[in-house]
Amino acid sequence: MLNRNILKIDKVNAFSSATAYVAQYKKEHPQRDVISLGIGDVSKPIVKPIIEAMHKAVDDLADMSSFHGYGGYYGLPELRQAIIDNDYPQFGFTIDEVYVSDGTKSDCTNILELFDINSRILMADPTYPIYRNRCYALSRDVYFTPLDEKYQMVIPEEHYDVIFICSPSNPVGNAMTYDVLEKWVSYAVRENAYIIYDNVYEAFISSPDVPKSIYEIPEARKCAIELRSFSKRASFTGLRCSYFILPKEIDTVLFKERTINRFNGASYVAQVGALASFLPESRELLRKNIETYKENIHFLKKSFEEMGFEVTGGVDSPYIWVKNRENISSFEYFHKILNEINVIIVPGAIFGPHGEGYFRVSGLGTIENSRRAVERFQRYYEESH
Ligand code: PLP
Repeated sequence: MLNRNILKIDKVNAFSSATAYVAQYKKEHPQRDVISLGIGDVSKPIVKPIIEAMHKAVDDLADMSSFHGYGGYYGLPELRQAIIDNDYPQFGFTIDEVYVSDGTKSDCTNILELFDINSRILMADPTYPIYRNRCYALSRDVYFTPLDEKYQMVIPEEHYDVIFICSPSNPVGNAMTYDVLEKWVSYAVRENAYIIYDNVYEAFISSPDVPKSIYEIPEARKCAIELRSFSKRASFTGLRCSYFILPKEIDTVLFKERTINRFNGASYVAQVGALASFLPESRELLRKNIETYKENIHFLKKSFEEMGFEVTGGVDSPYIWVKNRENISSFEYFHKILNEINVIIVPGAIFGPHGEGYFRVSGLGTIENSRRAVERFQRYYEESH
């Protein structure tokens, strides 16, 4: 029998249906200049010190004395050590608590193998849709919690076993402050629950009251697994490298056993590249890239606010979450904006029923395109209202 749960997802309100609509539109109107503010990929190439290190890594593979084959199930020890030294120097983690992998998209639900099949799994609505869709495919018990008026996940009264938290958030673009996150950690400790903390946009955090890591809350070591990726911070979206921290207070045995039987390790070349991202010369270049994306999203946030939209996010993340100006569904609004001004936005319903009435805008594209898209929005609203 085939696993039909894979199709349990809402195909109407899916990324794939938005992508198909755009493809059809471009096919029918090849002469139109379509600009995407929907882009979830990065637009900056990989910086030179990382590229040079990877060239050398490729040469290593050509020589028997430096060849790397099977065996690195949890990642290169020097990369795991560099992650601790650079990203978590204050927490005293050891490399046994670091797992290197091939992307947070896989990690965020592969980690569910650590938890009992009957676990009650909670996530936000709206959510990064991969958590939801993969839980359906894996026949897991999924529950949703809405956002409050400050766009923060509402802490439930009931018991849940596993909680997905995405901070800084995709899609909403805001981040959890220390106070809010502390409440979630207290909930998890009280309920014997675990938090899967998706922190892939950590490089964008600049607000002083937003923790860079959940482990800044001491009790989080008992209940939180933090996931990070080199995708957005170092343009590894095509290369693939990620990691997560599984503190020894949670597990030292199960996930190692699982991983030996499940995963033959991340690509050697990608891991050498990830290691080179910690070089001082790389860090400076990567910091500048993130700054550019942040300037871009600040510009977009300000522009949509000036046009009278209600906007959240865009301070500690590359996304803003914008309320539709018109009383139509998020997909109708997406169709309308594409047809009227040839700009792509992401309809909020993709992220869950409570995303209805909103759309997501990304600052990961270029500032030139953002300026041109904003001009089109301004003209459209001047002319039509
Ligand atoms: N988690 C979130 C919240 C994301 O937005 C994304 C990508 O957009 C990912 C995970 C995927 O990251 P990776 O490229 O490491 O698979």
